[in-house]
Amino acid sequence: MRKSNLLYLLPALAILSCSKDEITPEKEQQLVEKTELAANVEVAYPNDFGLLSDVYFAGKKITVEEIDGEYIYEGDIVFSNDMLTSKDVKLVFEKGEEIPAQKSVGRTSARWPNNTVYYSIDSSLPDKNRATDAIKHWEANTSLKFVQRTSQSNYIYFTPGSGCSSYVGMTGGRQNITLATGCSTGNTIHEIGHAVGLWHEQSRVDREKHIRINYSNIQSGREHNFKTYEESGSDGDEFTSNLDFGSIMLYSSYSFSSNGQPTIVKLDGSTFSVQRNALSSGDKTGINNMYPSGGTTEPVNPTYTNGEYYTISGVRVLRHKDLWYYYSRSYGWKVVELINDRWYYAR
Ligand SMILES: [Zn+2]
Repeated sequence: MRKSNLLYLLPALAILSCSKDEITPEKEQQLVEKTELAANVEVAYPNDFGLLSDVYFAGKKITVEEIDGEYIYEGDIVFSNDMLTSKDVKLVFEKGEEIPAQKSVGRTSARWPNNTVYYSIDSSLPDKNRATDAIKHWEANTSLKFVQRTSQSNYIYFTPGSGCSSYVGMTGGRQNITLATGCSTGNTIHEIGHAVGLWHEQSRVDREKHIRINYSNIQSGREHNFKTYEESGSDGDEFTSNLDFGSIMLYSSYSFSSNGQPTIVKLDGSTFSVQRNALSSGDKTGINNMYPSGGTTEPVNPTYTNGEYYTISGVRVLRHKDLWYYYSRSYGWKVVELINDRWYYAR
């Protein structure tokens, strides 16, 4: 269901009407479209504000926007209904306990086995070269192979939509990358980045070493788009040592700005420009660390630091004295173990 822009913006209007700039909802919407389009930044529904919903993802409450029955996060990332629950669900089990049938919530970063991504292009997609050129770019610059789907069950489907959007990682089954006519080959390279497992560059866990978020310039209700992937309960890892200002996965300095002022700045307060032309050298390094050539399905062994939180197999856990700890309201902190991709309380 689409929500009218006006309804959604009423609280913002109430605050903004007191300011001397007199920003009306219409003006705010125009500013948003202008800044996103000028910056070539991907948005799934450029002309709509969604109904904000609080949902559970990997045992954490997060805010998503619901538009046309889809759940949108950070502008162009889609969560399927299967990944989310309206109530918190059990994620850690006693050994020997029967696992209840429940959604496999919170798993987004699954990688494509054997470095091979299957895809298919909707025959009604205008300018199909955007998809094939973007694929060629990925193949020329990374260890990933893209193969036209015949009967494989897991595949990307390039299809028309109101904006540019994608799921993150291999979700299982058909997963759409939507491309409106305004989505360029560069935007398509970005959306493929999500589908192979990349979050936005500014949602890195170590981003505060490189950027600052100006929350006062973000549209009211859109602050949830500026969390790190870890804060939003997603699986992830850093595959390069620094935030890359050249990354094709980076938001613009003005993304989701309510007033034309920057929402993301470098630590010295300056803005940066975004590019949507090609994978940067940092993007290539990260992807080739995620998908080492040789096609192993095993990820590079990550190193875990004591005292840090990680989200692994859909559960947020704390590394402490080389063990994993999980906090629940009923048990407090308990040692847990990962067995066959499920978390169990250690005895
Ligand atoms: Zn994106």
